[in-house]
Amino acid sequence: MKASIRKLVLERDPYCFHCGESNDLVVHHRRNRGHGGSKLLDKPEWLMAVCARYNGEMESVSSVAESARRSGHKLRSWEASSLPVFDVVTLLWYVLKTDGTKEVYEDGEGYY
Ligand SMILES: [Zn+2]
Repeated sequence: MKASIRKLVLERDPYCFHCGESNDLVVHHRRNRGHGGSKLLDKPEWLMAVCARYNGEMESVSSVAESARRSGHKLRSWEASSLPVFDVVTLLWYVLKTDGTKEVYEDGEGYY
């Protein structure tokens, strides 16, 4: 992943959307890259900052993975990047944009 993309994501997401932690952040791919690791997913709308602990638990703890899917943090292979992500700090849903910004998802309340 390009350093510039990484920087953009970490500026957009100054804390982990799952727990609010602002230290030890890593850039997480919302959709698994699968074999070959497509660079098409190295774009801001497919990426989010999360703490290292959450990043690991999404892969190893099934209840965490399930909750990450409900929060838009983890996407299935057929899901679009326009699905909003839940931010536990602001309690709002955001749509991540390809230009590296995020927009409040207005209908977030009843999304799921
Ligand atoms: Zn976290």
